[in-house]
Amino acid sequence: MSTKVCVLGAGGRMGQSVMRALSERQDTTLVAAVDRPDGPVVGRDCGALIGLEPAGVTVSGSLEDGLVAGATVIDFSTPAALVAALPLLQDAGSPLVTGTTGLTDEQLQTLEQASRTIPVLRADNFSVGVVLMRMLARKAAEVLGQQADVEIIEAHHRRKVDAPSGTALAIGRSVAQGLGVDLQDHADWTRYGQVGPRGEGRIGFSVIRGGDIVGEHTALFAMDGERVELTHRATDRMIFARGAARAAAWLGSQPPGLYELEDLMR
Ligand code: NAD
Repeated sequence: MSTKVCVLGAGGRMGQSVMRALSERQDTTLVAAVDRPDGPVVGRDCGALIGLEPAGVTVSGSLEDGLVAGATVIDFSTPAALVAALPLLQDAGSPLVTGTTGLTDEQLQTLEQASRTIPVLRADNFSVGVVLMRMLARKAAEVLGQQADVEIIEAHHRRKVDAPSGTALAIGRSVAQGLGVDLQDHADWTRYGQVGPRGEGRIGFSVIRGGDIVGEHTALFAMDGERVELTHRATDRMIFARGAARAAAWLGSQPPGLYELEDLMR
């Protein structure tokens, strides 16, 4: 049976990639696409939008009008659009796969509450390589402990609006787990001016923005005389889109709850 999918944020870089990824699969069918009411893609055929044959599905400017009841929603939009969509998804009984990043703690809590009535899979990064990198970063932190100064460095394209990236935060959480500490208490988010020597046990973050960089993350474990660097480079955002499409095909048959990408890889 094919899973019906609605794409929220359909006109965006990720939304369009997700529609391409859905078209590659036999077990998912695009039935609806939604963008903001004043978005330039509203009214356009989804197939034509991504350079394929007409799909017979046009982009709607309203989730209320566009959503097909029970269809799984794949969301790559904005935190505000995601949170605004939740009551509609709950009413429609629509499972949610979301990759939107930059959510506040309060918005994350609202998402968690929604997952009590609908299945929700959230991932800051839908690539298999980053799942592996997080496992390795956690292991490295466990093995090296306080011997190593940990720095997380990320680079993204000039249009990215949140920093550090959701993926950098997720890698930071994995390192903190490995060290047995809480990330919020140990993170150095910025350094500027006379900041003094590096604090012991701190997890530092550095952010680069420019050009069309799809996404690069390094976890650096610096010791005296040697260092270990774990790096993941995304060169094509289709890796995220394919991960999200695969998650949508899986999530439809799950009971309500909050899932991670690791759950479907088990
Ligand atoms: P983008 O700006 O290209 O696309 C966002 C789209 O959402 C736009 O088309 C915009 O018009 C639309 N939108 C805004 N408000 C809306 C509303 N109220 N209703 C419906 N649509 C609305 O951004 P992008 O690069 O596609 O990224 C989108 C999100 O996904 C960001 O938060 C980004 O960080 C995240 N992202 C996550 C992953 C991952 O693997 N989890 C990968 C890449 C990007």
